[in-house]
Amino acid sequence: MCEISSSICTSPIGLLSLTYCSKGLHFIGQIKSINDESFLPDENQTVEIQSWHGKLTMPESCLNWLRTYFHTPKKLTKTPELCPNVASEKGSFQESVWRALLDNVHFGQTITYGQLAELAGNKKAARAAGTAMLRNPFQIIVPCHRVIRSNGDIGNYSGGTRNLVKLWLLKHEKQ
Ligand SMILES: [Zn+2]
Repeated sequence: MCEISSSICTSPIGLLSLTYCSKGLHFIGQIKSINDESFLPDENQTVEIQSWHGKLTMPESCLNWLRTYFHTPKKLTKTPELCPNVASEKGSFQESVWRALLDNVHFGQTITYGQLAELAGNKKAARAAGTAMLRNPFQIIVPCHRVIRSNGDIGNYSGGTRNLVKLWLLKHEKQ
């Protein structure tokens, strides 16, 4: 069993909520109140721990990765550890989709839902790849914002409630 700690940190896309155990991340994502109506990005906002609960403070690897992602992305290296209890490689199609995306679609690149399904081992499963994106607990790190529609539309982010966030991230990566 994992002993879970949690943190809130600042970022250019608003407050991020994280949960993790000693083996790695369980969840990272913008706090619930952020949506297309309330989204107020600030590219100069630094990444700082705002508060934390539990035994462990926010992992240094994660803090550094986020700072690099937002402010010096050319230096981006290995992603923070994901807890194997959440992101096991042996599991479902959903986990194959997360893994395929994490391993193959890098900063500044995009892929379609169909191409991602094929990378994950089932080219007919574009819709299931879309569902796996919706359930992705690792916002930015497993880069579901890089998955777009085959006609070039950006598609929905967080069920369509945070499409401006997706647009912001894609634009950030094109600079
Ligand atoms: Zn864990």
